[in-house]
Amino acid sequence: MKLYLVEDEKNLQQLLVTYLIEDGYTVTAFDDGRDALNCLNDEPDLWILDIMLPEVDGFTLIKKIKEKNSLTPVIFMSARSAELDRVIGLEMGCDDYLPKPFLPRELVLRVNRLLQYKRTTQNPKIGSYIFDVNRRILLKENISIDLTVKEYDLIKLFLSNIDQALSRSDILDDVWGDNYFGSERVVDDTLRRLRKKAPELPLEAIYGFGYILKGVI
Ligand code: CA
Repeated sequence: MKLYLVEDEKNLQQLLVTYLIEDGYTVTAFDDGRDALNCLNDEPDLWILDIMLPEVDGFTLIKKIKEKNSLTPVIFMSARSAELDRVIGLEMGCDDYLPKPFLPRELVLRVNRLLQYKRTTQNPKIGSYIFDVNRRILLKENISIDLTVKEYDLIKLFLSNIDQALSRSDILDDVWGDNYFGSERVVDDTLRRLRKKAPELPLEAIYGFGYILKGVI
């Protein structure tokens, strides 16, 4: 996942970048607020902002970031009057706050926590599975189940029609497209394989008609 870090103290910036990269993140670092502001459209997965910055400060940055996408997590760091910055930061929608000095490891842990939260809200739960949309897999207690292109498309289709019975021909048209001239049996075959891979999917056959995905929480 891609992180943007804005910190004008070079030594601290380098130290934090090292720790975050070691934990598997891709990090882009900025020395001042204006350069960061110019990259707003990149929409990284998370921003880490110092408050006191040359050119454009952290408060201005968070305002722009949250205007663009209020769901993008932002962590503030500040050496100023910690309590006041924390309150202003929270008011402006920051998701976490670290008063300086702090241990780099603590920043890494907080980044992990926020991104874990982001991942679970983006990826729906289907029964006892998590559908990891970006990685195109199902997850069950950290065991990943690979999906073929059609299996992935089928899950997407059922997710946008929860608790609705879909006929074989609707499924065929949607997933295989109008240009497919094979038999509707392909729907049964593919779904049989999917249910074998993921037997606890709340996906039920409706005899003589089609299928339904039930009660996704
Ligand atoms: Ca600073």
